[in-house]
Amino acid sequence: MNYSFETIGVIRSPYREKFGIPRQPSLVDARVTLELLPPYNQPDCVRGLEAFSHVWIHFVFHQTLARGWQPLVRPPRLGGNAKVGVFASRATHRPNPLGLSLVELVSVNTDGGATLELAGADLLDGTPVLDIKPYIPFVESRPEARGGFVDGPPPQLAVAWSDEARRQLAALTPPAGFAGLVDQVLAQDPRPAYQDDPERVYGVSLYCYNVRFGIADGTARVLEILYADQN
Ligand code: SAH
Repeated sequence: MNYSFETIGVIRSPYREKFGIPRQPSLVDARVTLELLPPYNQPDCVRGLEAFSHVWIHFVFHQTLARGWQPLVRPPRLGGNAKVGVFASRATHRPNPLGLSLVELVSVNTDGGATLELAGADLLDGTPVLDIKPYIPFVESRPEARGGFVDGPPPQLAVAWSDEARRQLAALTPPAGFAGLVDQVLAQDPRPAYQDDPERVYGVSLYCYNVRFGIADGTARVLEILYADQN
């Protein structure tokens, strides 16, 4: 059978491209806004939601859905070589390109529509949202659960800023918490699993900035913060 679902809201996020987005929610304290669309943006649709601290967001991997799926995938946590079944992974390329993220609900705003402020999201700017459900800790929190090949958080890199990047940051007017977001995103080591070239310069897009950095000896070094006006 085929089903069709309607987008109920859209994510506004500092993550303007896939590269650099953490591989799961809550690893980085990124703040995003979920804007509900008519007719779902009536205050009635979110009445009572503010009593919950966390919500499940069901969304579409809209940027990668055209690439289809494979039965086996190579999760970054296994070094990019070992394969597991698509249904044993959180890969974005799935038979139905549906994502599921547990995020913190910071606030519910119902002035002129309905928007949710969410923290710890792993969502791209423009992500279409299909559903929102409150997280119910007494049934859904399972500390005894086994985490397969993702048992525990990934190792973190140290992060250092060049004098040039510090100067550039001081001359810009980035959103509150921008430097902390850069630190947390780079500490996750955004490189593909198979890359380890200390000379290579990478760029990650956060808000309207392009953050240029390199990684050597377990340290990510912020080289430059450039204004990218396409955003
Ligand atoms: N927590 C979700 C997502 C895990 S995959 C789940 O388990 O279903 C996480 C990756 O999804 C991120 O690294 C990011 O690159 C990717 N992503 C986030 N939003 C996306 C979107 N709208 N389209 C395609 N990929 C997206």
